[in-house]
Amino acid sequence: MVDGEQSVKWNFRIFGMTCTTCSRLAERALKKTTGVEFASVNLTTESAFVIASPDVTWDILQSAVKNAGYEAAITVTEDLEEAKNAEAKRTLIEVLAVGVPLSCLMYLKMLFGVNVPFYSELEIAIGAVALFRCGRKTFRGAWIAAAHCHTNMDTLIAISACASWLTAILSYVGFAIPSFGTVGVMIMMLHLTGRYIEARLRGRAAKRIKALLTLQPHEARVITESSEILVPIEAVKPDTIIAVKPGERIPIDGVVTEGRSGVDESLLTGESMPVLKCEESEVIGGSLNINAPLKIRAAKTGEDTFLSGMLNLVREAQGAKVPLQALADRITIVFVPTIIALAAASAAAWLLFFPSLSRLTYPLLSLMPWDNAAQTPISAAIYSFIATLVIACPCALGLATPLALVACTGESSRCGLLIRNAEAVQTLKDADLAVLDKTGTITEGKPSVIKWEATDEALDAAYTLESSSGHPLAAAILSVTGKRKHLHFEETEETAGEGVCGTLDKDKWFIGRADNTFSYTDLDIFAATVVQIRKNGKHAGYFAITDPIRDDTASAVCELNDLGITAIMATGDSQNSAKAAAFAAGIKNFRSGVRPEDKLTIVQDEQRKGHRVIMAGDGINDAAALKAADVGIAMGTGMDLAVDSADIVIMNGGISRIASAVRISRITSRIIKQNLVCAFVYNIIAVPLAMAGVLHPIAAECAMAASSLTVILNSLRIIGSAEKRGG
Ligand code: ADP
Ligand code: MG
Repeated sequence: MVDGEQSVKWNFRIFGMTCTTCSRLAERALKKTTGVEFASVNLTTESAFVIASPDVTWDILQSAVKNAGYEAAITVTEDLEEAKNAEAKRTLIEVLAVGVPLSCLMYLKMLFGVNVPFYSELEIAIGAVALFRCGRKTFRGAWIAAAHCHTNMDTLIAISACASWLTAILSYVGFAIPSFGTVGVMIMMLHLTGRYIEARLRGRAAKRIKALLTLQPHEARVITESSEILVPIEAVKPDTIIAVKPGERIPIDGVVTEGRSGVDESLLTGESMPVLKCEESEVIGGSLNINAPLKIRAAKTGEDTFLSGMLNLVREAQGAKVPLQALADRITIVFVPTIIALAAASAAAWLLFFPSLSRLTYPLLSLMPWDNAAQTPISAAIYSFIATLVIACPCALGLATPLALVACTGESSRCGLLIRNAEAVQTLKDADLAVLDKTGTITEGKPSVIKWEATDEALDAAYTLESSSGHPLAAAILSVTGKRKHLHFEETEETAGEGVCGTLDKDKWFIGRADNTFSYTDLDIFAATVVQIRKNGKHAGYFAITDPIRDDTASAVCELNDLGITAIMATGDSQNSAKAAAFAAGIKNFRSGVRPEDKLTIVQDEQRKGHRVIMAGDGINDAAALKAADVGIAMGTGMDLAVDSADIVIMNGGISRIASAVRISRITSRIIKQNLVCAFVYNIIAVPLAMAGVLHPIAAECAMAASSLTVILNSLRIIGSAEKRGG
């Protein structure tokens, strides 16, 4: 990574990439550009992150991307997404407007022998419009792939549509071959319909995700002369000093003015090792502060960083791929060339061995409801070539996973869930154990102090130490201490799940988890969380805090049980308050007094026993366990570090959403599998028939339409699946 003030950071979008080869090519093109010091291209978010010297202008980067065959855009507003949607709709209407009448004419001609005047001319003209106007994007996609020596779905669509259209031309200019021009138009119609439905669902999911993200406050702690105030990020001006607590996201690009802490920049750079930042270090908006409080001088206005960070999250949520999809992609890589080779081989075989082959396939053909139009070797070759390509046209295959996933994203965001990692959709379905954190997860995370006692000096210390913490208990304590004298501690340090300590004039102060210098005699605070203040290890005061259980917790635990998932609770809190919370939530198995590393061990132990583990939490102390669990689920109200470590975020609502997520994941995985099987089985049966020349290309086209329709309708079943069925 490059430092220094001269380097300029770019964050922009790249369009037109379809697979990992594409993203690698785009990345290589950027890296080769003179002046570019670092480049990383992300396929799923369709974005690029570049660090370059100041003489590298936007035009240079853009043309580098363009030369590789893709398109770069610096900012993508919602308008552009909408424009893309509108375009998909327009092309679909265009292709249907010309294609449907043509198909009707063809059926009239075929089924009722109606003589349509100028049919051949119409077929050629409409074919040209449908293919080269409406389908130009598909052809472009195929062309880019071919230019880089590989094939994709677009390749197959383009070749089969083109081949069909060519038969119309050849038969028109006098070759004795059947014309299948209309089939090409039908392929385009079907392909564009699928694309449109996908775009629609995607657009709707994006809107919902954006709505979810705006639910969360996006504020920066601006330091003024007298205090700290929360300001919406958009309103932060350059040179403002802001404070960032450990576990919080750095809201804005800037330079550290005070503090030393590890910062995780992986959201932007993909590099997951935290980078140490001290005074004068640059920090990027959107990265996460891990260990200690930092003060930062803002370099840009808040608006830029805020928007790009949000868009990144939206894209991440949308672009994610499940492993099944990766499998489907790998299959397509070999599938497309294989089909082209099979089609060519069958054409060649028909040309060479027409008499013997037609004798062989005659019995099969007599079973088909149509006449064999192929009377000569050439027509038989074309017949089987086109039918093979058409039948294998992977419309259904191409739609199988994306459609199901998009429906899944839409359904998840409808019930307040943000899926950050699509792999979780596949893993979640097998989960059988859920480890739940207490404070903020089972409870509301809005604790209040019910009783407290402390010397004045201890209160000042509590006030100062808790001001630097983002823990929910800190907020509760600050609300009772009010504003007090700010002590100048030499160094303060927060230990997750423990508390905050600091040194002042050789005295060691600590506020956090109570030890045995505090004895419980008071019944009122028996089940409360006790936070103790200690000076040099001696009791100096306490706060007894309660946090009510969420309304939906008990029913959520039952629901999980019904789904075959056992809930256990792991908390850093004391035995008594843990027991009270577990009892109220209906959880039999709980662990109290656990440290962050214990939460991690609990998750790992259960995994070793063969369980598929869900971890749900909200705090810094849950982060490691969230990452280690098969599926980490964070509460959107929790610390940014927890949210960033999770696969799924509950943006609104309590842990009953976990059950919804499990239901959605189960049905989505099932539907993806069904879709893929449907698409494959259909190919395995139909391709040999087509090669044998017994499948009429029109019939092949109808079969393909039917299989695409099945996949579409099947995927739509995901919508509404989050709700509990029956009882
Ligand atoms: P959990 O979420 O697992 O219940 P916590 O994050 O609440 O765990 O931490 C466990 C205990 O550590 C708390 O009950 C509290 O006593 C203490 N603690 C942690 N951080 C702080 C803090 N900033 N201020 C006061 N006490 C803290
Ligand atoms: Mg917690």
